[in-house]
Amino acid sequence: MTVDELPRSESLDLPPWPEGHEVAVSLTFDVDGESVAIGESSANARRLSLMSDGRYGVTRGLPRIRALLAEENIHGTFFVPGWVADKYGSHVRGLAEDEHEIGHHGYLHRNPEDLDLEGQTEELQHGLDSLVSLFGGNPVGYRAPYFAPTCETFSLLQGLGFIYDSSCMGDHQPYLECCKGIKMLELPVHWSLDDGVYYAWTPQTGALGGPNLLFDTWFAEFNAIASEGGHLVLTMHPHWTGRPHQLETLHRLIREMRRAKKVWFTPLLQVAELYQPRTKD
Ligand SMILES: [Zn+2]
Repeated sequence: MTVDELPRSESLDLPPWPEGHEVAVSLTFDVDGESVAIGESSANARRLSLMSDGRYGVTRGLPRIRALLAEENIHGTFFVPGWVADKYGSHVRGLAEDEHEIGHHGYLHRNPEDLDLEGQTEELQHGLDSLVSLFGGNPVGYRAPYFAPTCETFSLLQGLGFIYDSSCMGDHQPYLECCKGIKMLELPVHWSLDDGVYYAWTPQTGALGGPNLLFDTWFAEFNAIASEGGHLVLTMHPHWTGRPHQLETLHRLIREMRRAKKVWFTPLLQVAELYQPRTKD
């Protein structure tokens, strides 16, 4: 791809939200489990502490997140790698029973930027097969591992019937991410709206931002997005946000949002469907 062919954004107007809601908020969770570490190197499987951190997300964090969302009557979007669906079927199957949206998040969380077309095809199809096998119906939303899709990813996704991606950052409201003649409805994310920025810590990556910085940043972003009548996408991981005080912080955020505005908490799919008639031309 030359500089002249660089990807670009195409703006879309915000729709009116249902029932007079002032702002839309999507709580999204990437249920990575151990797939990130194993996807990076199968040798990581012998590292007990690293494996246990990923496992905590599925076996301990996820049920607590589900309970909070049930208490608050919120439906979210859960991006599940196919490997996690295969290994933890009994733990994640209930997400669909709770009427949360299930989205595609690769098979073994491999970075699309590191894969050729054949590798991406295999990762997407394998992940899709696992999700369909466990949950039934086809997912139509995708989040690339590491927020790292390529134009080839979008081409493959459209061939598989996907209607939106949630990995890019070309706007702070829904837009079209365009490359090589492909236009993909993008429900954008941002690193500042990812819990890993505040909660991830490894001996290699250093300091924590912490829950108060997360709360202040996310609530300020919520108010700014709400002033535009927009759509806020928050990205969380059960092995971080599912922990005790981090989950309390999410609960506090939900309550404060509801106190401030008339909020439509919605899975990404329902936002994507509002755009469908306008993106099909
Ligand atoms: Zn992930």
